[in-house]
Amino acid sequence: MHFPKATSAFRSLLCTALCFCFAVAPSHAQLPSLGDGADMPAGEERRLGDRIARELYRDPDFVDDPILVEYVQGIWDRLMVAAVARGELNSELDERFAWRILLGRDRSVNAFALPGGYMGVLCGLIAVVGSKDELASVLAHEMSHVTQRHISRLMAQQSRTSPLFLAGMVLGALAASRNPQAANAVITGGVALQAQSQLNFSRAMEREADRVGYLVMTQAGFDGRGFAGMFEKLQQASGFNDSGGYPYLRSHPLTSERIADMRSRMPLGSGDANRAPTGSIEDAIMSARARIVSRPGQDALRGWSAEPDMTGFDRQPDRRRAAALYAAALSDSERRDLPAARAHVARLAALVVNDAAASRLARLLAAEIEVAAGNGAQAVAALGPLSSSLTRPELVLLAQASQHGAVVPTLTDRLQSWLATHPQDGTAWTLIAAAYRAENQPLRALRADAEAQVAHLDWSGAVDRYKAGQEWMRRNPGGSADYMEVSIIDARLQQAQSRLREETAER
Ligand SMILES: [Zn+2]
Repeated sequence: MHFPKATSAFRSLLCTALCFCFAVAPSHAQLPSLGDGADMPAGEERRLGDRIARELYRDPDFVDDPILVEYVQGIWDRLMVAAVARGELNSELDERFAWRILLGRDRSVNAFALPGGYMGVLCGLIAVVGSKDELASVLAHEMSHVTQRHISRLMAQQSRTSPLFLAGMVLGALAASRNPQAANAVITGGVALQAQSQLNFSRAMEREADRVGYLVMTQAGFDGRGFAGMFEKLQQASGFNDSGGYPYLRSHPLTSERIADMRSRMPLGSGDANRAPTGSIEDAIMSARARIVSRPGQDALRGWSAEPDMTGFDRQPDRRRAAALYAAALSDSERRDLPAARAHVARLAALVVNDAAASRLARLLAAEIEVAAGNGAQAVAALGPLSSSLTRPELVLLAQASQHGAVVPTLTDRLQSWLATHPQDGTAWTLIAAAYRAENQPLRALRADAEAQVAHLDWSGAVDRYKAGQEWMRRNPGGSADYMEVSIIDARLQQAQSRLREETAER
């Protein structure tokens, strides 16, 4: 497998080698010591996190890829259960925090914990991890920064500043970790630049996040060697590329320390502690998908399209061939080569016929390819028989297929029942709005538009759309008014307005 734009990916590996987080240089003395009790209250931290998350939802790099999100969320959910069972996650944080994952298209190898229980995961990270165990190690480390209140302690340090400014600082630090060169342009003024250094986790916090993260991930049933494997990978990459631009890395062999620390946690006799367990075919396919979702450019797509036709391809192990066929089919689709995409996905389906998880991914890919080509009916056929309760990727594809001519009689019912249990799913609200429009139900469509804004924490956008719903009612008094819908809109408008007022007051 190639690394698209290797330099930028490796550059970020260096930052990540020190910490998986948005922090780059974690040894500053300004931080309070652990356990001094100076935490930002949970409710305040959540509101701060909401502000930051809203900006990230608006970022053109934000991507709600249902397949990658489901994969990451599946690992995350297991870690959450383990953290609660271990007593690392108290009930107040469990209830008050968002515990939402935001996926970014960025090719940087990074993940970062944000205030209020939001977690950023970049495609570049999924693209380099080899197994769920490795990805779980990163997520568990980040989760532990939240549950151990490291973030709240960093934020409490900055409590003199307004929430608006604080949110700007975190976003600036985040931009800096993604692109060190652009950092000065992104961060406005020297004050914020100085503030960024104060948002770094201390070494003690990093060690604690490693220790607690390891316990949580192993309790969740992941292989602890994933932790050491991830570190090895990062260290190796940084060794290749120490171009002199990272003096901190050379003077602080923190990664070796952390690896040694991690190895010492392995029970004696557990075999080769250095070797990360090999991932499943599903894991390899997810890495391949992440590479393409991160928009690697036409040259990389052409390379992936060609790979399954290289000599010697058939002698590769199944796992590698499956990932390459998946990457080829998706690349073909991006390059608008429908016959090639269909042929590659058919080869993939035949190869993984005995692997249930991989077979499902092949079906989803076949449907996605047809949707991209505008063939709604073929997309529905590719999904195969539909069960009564669909998982999210199937549901999203079904809705997209209906926008391309497929007749899906059960669609709004299915979306409604999904949203009843997942009201924060902005994508599903947008899809149901389109379905309502197609059914000539404009009032319901306007309300769904508003809910999509609420899901992404944009109160002002939501207020506009609820008001548009009320306005529609005034202009269509005798129309197909759904009185239930009208009273919901009135109540929801008031809630959104009150959130908007709260935020304005906090400035
Ligand atoms: Zn960290």
